[in-house]
Amino acid sequence: MTKIGDISKKNKMGKNTTTDVTLYEIENNTYLLDTPGFQSIDIYEIPSKDLANLFLEFREHIKNCEFVSCLHLQEKNCGVINAVNQNKISKQRYENFVKIYNDLKNEEEHKW
Ligand SMILES: [Zn+2]
Repeated sequence: MTKIGDISKKNKMGKNTTTDVTLYEIENNTYLLDTPGFQSIDIYEIPSKDLANLFLEFREHIKNCEFVSCLHLQEKNCGVINAVNQNKISKQRYENFVKIYNDLKNEEEHKW
């Protein structure tokens, strides 16, 4: 089981309370979100476009993205990618982000 890192998630009611969540990869493509207390979250409930916001240390760099719709994958002038290149964000965390993003995206495409 690999600890991917702490993320936090707005609750479904859209309130501004965030829950700190630790994300684990149990095996390939199987993720466990460990939340303090009562709430269990299915990773596939997370819209792929919101994923970057769950990586806490990405947030301050997301505002540097040139495009509001930036997915932080291969866009030009992406604040997140720049931060990875400047070692402000760990490359491994970023790779986890890309991997999970692709999983979520796949899931969404099968759903719709
Ligand atoms: Zn970006």
